Amino acid sequence: MTDYRTPLDSVLETVGETPLVRVQAAPPEVPVYAKLESFNPGASIKDRIGKYMVETMLDRGELEPGGTVIEPTAGNTGIGFAVAAGQLDVDAVFVVPERFSVEKQQLMAALGAEVINTPTDEGMGGAIERAHELAAELDDAVVPQQFSNPLNVEAHYETTGPEIFEALDGEVGAVVAGCGTAGTLMGIAEYALEQDPDVHVTAVEPEGSLYAETKGEDPEEADYKIEGIGTHDPATNELFDPDLVDEVVQVPDRRAHEELRRLAREEGQLVASSAGAASAAALHVAERIRDGEIDAPHDSVATVFADSSERYLSKGIYRSFEEWDG
Ligand code: PMP
Repeated sequence: MTDYRTPLDSVLETVGETPLVRVQAAPPEVPVYAKLESFNPGASIKDRIGKYMVETMLDRGELEPGGTVIEPTAGNTGIGFAVAAGQLDVDAVFVVPERFSVEKQQLMAALGAEVINTPTDEGMGGAIERAHELAAELDDAVVPQQFSNPLNVEAHYETTGPEIFEALDGEVGAVVAGCGTAGTLMGIAEYALEQDPDVHVTAVEPEGSLYAETKGEDPEEADYKIEGIGTHDPATNELFDPDLVDEVVQVPDRRAHEELRRLAREEGQLVASSAGAASAAALHVAERIRDGEIDAPHDSVATVFADSSERYLSKGIYRSFEEWDG
């Protein structure tokens, strides 16, 4: 475990072991704790899968040193893979739909990766297709496929989940996390349910996203500004297992925005919109545990703040709700 009291060889050794910090707005009877993933070297949760997946693929011989990873990504995954690839002698190419923030694309390029844009209206589906076309054209190229690769879940089962349980001495009543690929929530949930099958598991998505369909609901599809979580086609989110999830909570853009601004103003937390959504949902879960509406094995909630707001300043994340360009 990294304690930062001795020199390290590479930033890769600083991936994971992020702080778990109390969310002060939670009811005192049911504290909420958030894993601050912006403490990773690439400043997001996705450094964990970048390191874990590239190292594992190299170990297994699925990827050779000098080979290339090509990944369709909304941005943070690209940065996470770029950090790992750069340190492990692997080239990186990322296919990014245009709508995603320019900061992320500049960081991927700064880390030595190639960035290819696909039209916004083709969504992640268009980016996934283009990544596979490119991989077919190159020798020694792999598409790690964060949307379907079980190593994405395993990275969180092996690291994020155990870190949360260790920090809370195993006393975790509920886990609440936003779902993009759902790797984060599935990995934590799998670990949590092994420790205690009664842990309450809440998936968080923006209002307008369709994960709720997997729990038999009929959500209305719409665009949303929250970045990094949600889906317009749950069939593409192959890692999401509704059986591990007690509920899918939808958070409106306006609520996530209000919460991310409150977190900065009141708690000194510079976190982005998916964290705003996770926090809003986690606070709600804590209130329902307190009120006896959710029967959790412990009076505590763990959540994940996936990245920092600094990555979205160009989109006006701290401006008014109307001026925020999600
Ligand atoms: N928040 C942000 C900002 C993200 O970039 C992502 C990844 N898309 C997530 C949350 C969700 O993580 P996961 O893909 O593991 O569900």
